[in-house]
Amino acid sequence: MRAVVLAAAGGPEQLHLRTLPDPVPGPDDVLVRVRACGVAHRDLIERRSAPLGMVLPIVQGHEFAGEVAAVGANVTEWSVGDRVLNLYTAACGQCEACRAGEPRRCQAITEAYGLTVNGGYAELVRVHRSALVRLIDGIAWPVAATLMSALGVGYNNVVHKARVRPGEHVLVTGASGGVGLAALQAAKLRGAHVWAVTGSAAKEDRLRAMGADEVIVDDGTTIHKQVRGKRRQGVDAAIDCVGSPTLNGTLRAVRPYGRVVAIGNVDPAPLQLNVGLLVVGAIDLLGSDNVTLEALAELMPLVRDGTLAATIDETIPLDRVADAHRRLEAREAFGRIVINLSLPTTEFTQ
Ligand SMILES: [Zn+2]
Repeated sequence: MRAVVLAAAGGPEQLHLRTLPDPVPGPDDVLVRVRACGVAHRDLIERRSAPLGMVLPIVQGHEFAGEVAAVGANVTEWSVGDRVLNLYTAACGQCEACRAGEPRRCQAITEAYGLTVNGGYAELVRVHRSALVRLIDGIAWPVAATLMSALGVGYNNVVHKARVRPGEHVLVTGASGGVGLAALQAAKLRGAHVWAVTGSAAKEDRLRAMGADEVIVDDGTTIHKQVRGKRRQGVDAAIDCVGSPTLNGTLRAVRPYGRVVAIGNVDPAPLQLNVGLLVVGAIDLLGSDNVTLEALAELMPLVRDGTLAATIDETIPLDRVADAHRRLEAREAFGRIVINLSLPTTEFTQ
């Protein structure tokens, strides 16, 4: 099979299109023929920094969709031809969390796609049977590839973590990214008044077209001033899709007894947090719950029916992944870049 291999931690030049042996599924594995795979900001961070636990060389790509091409001897719940998408990690099936029916909280995660085992920047990927979700009909492959990590994370955290209610004012930072655009749409769907924060003035019109009621152009230092300049009491809730550059400004933009969900972590450097903001303001600072099977089940019909839209900046062939990393790094993309495995490639395969 052909795959894009990250040879070593570093720049996009470390990504190489190569021919690798086809993966062989073990008894509890499924072989998936990848039809589309998202290229996310997280991929850039991991490519640059090779976090603890990352295996190198590796095929990156933690969000993909495709068809089952083969199943291991023990697998009865999946069949050749099934339409599937993946979860971030496989679950052990035996720990307390798994036995309680919460595999995403597994205490003994066995594999993380694109990080500890090969992911979806490839024609084929081996996936543990526990890490697949059935894809309903009527959703195109590039859209399916964004369901879990972009749409699913944005939707789940707005609806089930921040519990946004009709009429609330909701701030979304990193609003022009894949997760941010999903959070923006989900908050609008809940009947909220949405404040979208972006670092790029050029993205304002497109954010308004996606439903943003207010757009704040900011580098992370003036969010609270801009919000409180227009609405003195601040917003009711915030979804922070960026992390340390925006979290303090976000906390200061939220009213007392409001809540902030931290989803993004684009800059892994530690953050100096003003605890007084939490104590005096009685603000609930919540961690991302990523995505749940329940949220995906709710989300898929909304996407199929066009109620929620995947925002795909561009679909690319497999040999343009390094270019996609460069475009994301330059903050040029609006939404996700998605590899479409059916697009022809021109680059020579090593
Ligand atoms: Zn477990």
